[in-house]
Amino acid sequence: MKYDVAVVGGGVAGLTAAIYAAKAGKRTIVVEKQERLGGRAVTNKISGAYFNLGGHALYFGDAHETFRELGLSLQGNKPSIDAYGIWKGKLSTLPMGVGSLLTTPLLSLKGKMEFAAWLTKLGKLDMRAFDRISLREWIERNVHDPMVRNLFYSLLRTASFAAAPDLQAAGPVLQQLKNALQGVLYLDRGWGTMIDELTQKALGHGVQILAKSKAVSVEHRGGLVQHVLCEDGTKVEANHIILAVPPAAAHRLVPHAEATALHTWKEQAIEITTACLDVALRRLPKPKQQLVYGIDQTVFLSNQSRAATLSDDGAQVISLLKYQGTDKNPEKDLQELEQTLDMVQPGWRSELVEKQFLPRMTVCHDFMHLKRLENPGPAVPEIAGLYVAGEWATHGEMLVDAATASAKRAVQHVLSHTDSGRATTYEHRDVI
Ligand SMILES: Cc1cc2nc3c(=O)[nH]c(=O)nc-3n(C[C@H](O)[C@H](O)[C@H](O)COP(=O)(O)OP(=O)(O)OC[C@H]3O[C@@H](n4cnc5c(N)ncnc54)[C@H](O)[C@@H]3O)c2cc1C
Repeated sequence: MKYDVAVVGGGVAGLTAAIYAAKAGKRTIVVEKQERLGGRAVTNKISGAYFNLGGHALYFGDAHETFRELGLSLQGNKPSIDAYGIWKGKLSTLPMGVGSLLTTPLLSLKGKMEFAAWLTKLGKLDMRAFDRISLREWIERNVHDPMVRNLFYSLLRTASFAAAPDLQAAGPVLQQLKNALQGVLYLDRGWGTMIDELTQKALGHGVQILAKSKAVSVEHRGGLVQHVLCEDGTKVEANHIILAVPPAAAHRLVPHAEATALHTWKEQAIEITTACLDVALRRLPKPKQQLVYGIDQTVFLSNQSRAATLSDDGAQVISLLKYQGTDKNPEKDLQELEQTLDMVQPGWRSELVEKQFLPRMTVCHDFMHLKRLENPGPAVPEIAGLYVAGEWATHGEMLVDAATASAKRAVQHVLSHTDSGRATTYEHRDVI
């Protein structure tokens, strides 16, 4: 089998890369180890309810723009942002609009004025100016009222899915909050529908899909990529190979990776994980309490059914997340998530249709943090024709936006190096 482009990994990044390569006329194949495409963006239908692998919302960032450009329908809706905060064991109205800002008991008058000023100021800031300081430094330096600070920690943690303010570079997280303040999209029948649409687009552009095929090696010779070798012995020859798999997997696949940038990218990577509890309830015991941010707890709750169809029979699908730091204790996390549900939807157990608990999901394999030496990809400079993509190969984007943006960067690189014949030298990596 000989291709222009082989993509290893059929998640959002791999599928996006394959579609753009095929659209540009390249003979393209995707090699995916699972039977099902989609990676972490799949949806499981259980007892008539659609559960993503933990709560997923599409921000109005690069992925949304990319999917629209590709013609995906993305059926779903923007949820209301009326929210509550958990503070000292109690639920209080969060200041998410003018009305709730006036009535919230969480802020003093001075705090309300500072918070309101920030909400208008945020939209105007150039977030790139804060790429080299930590989130904590930004908050402590710029936000004065202690309770406004607490609210910022909570909103920024939720927008970025990470409870790591000392490590997170402030710029990308503030940008993500700016995107989040425009609202998000919850998708009907979950993110799996987006994957189905991406798969159809890929097939429509002539992409070959080799599912249930685990890549075990990406061979190279004389500084040029040669082929992907699969577990069952299948050899996929390609001029260009895009590794849309996690950094450690990319490193494992490439012989002598320790002599390449893949080594740095694997070593510098810091993973972010969450514990996820999703429940389908016949009805909501407290219909008004659908969106809750932990302020002094690193939890989040959202009834996604308030905006999207997530069950066949009207059951309400609520997603809860516990943002994990270094301290991971699945039993404790489950207890904390269930206690949150007890507080927000008392009596939920007697309305329960189905439940999914995922104790430790990797939200991202790496992100823009202050210990990072360089931004990964798109090209692996030591091996011509080898590229990386995935949410960890971020150059400032977050989550699925980083998956699509890195995929497009890789394809752009492929195209700029095929039009003039294969390049012998590669641009220097983006050292930060
Ligand atoms: C709980 C949770 C909540 C999230 N919520 C949001 C959200 O609200 N908004 C948002 O924007 N993002 C969210 N995300 C992040 C989003 O899901 C990911 O950024 C995105 O799905 C990553 O896509 P990817 O293609 O980079 O990686 P993956 O989805 O991990 O894809 C990698 C693929 O490579 C395959 N693979 C690995 N090794 C091999 C091999 N050797 N051979 C062949 N195939 C291989 C895997 O099977 C997989 O299909 C969330 C993630 C989690 C876990």
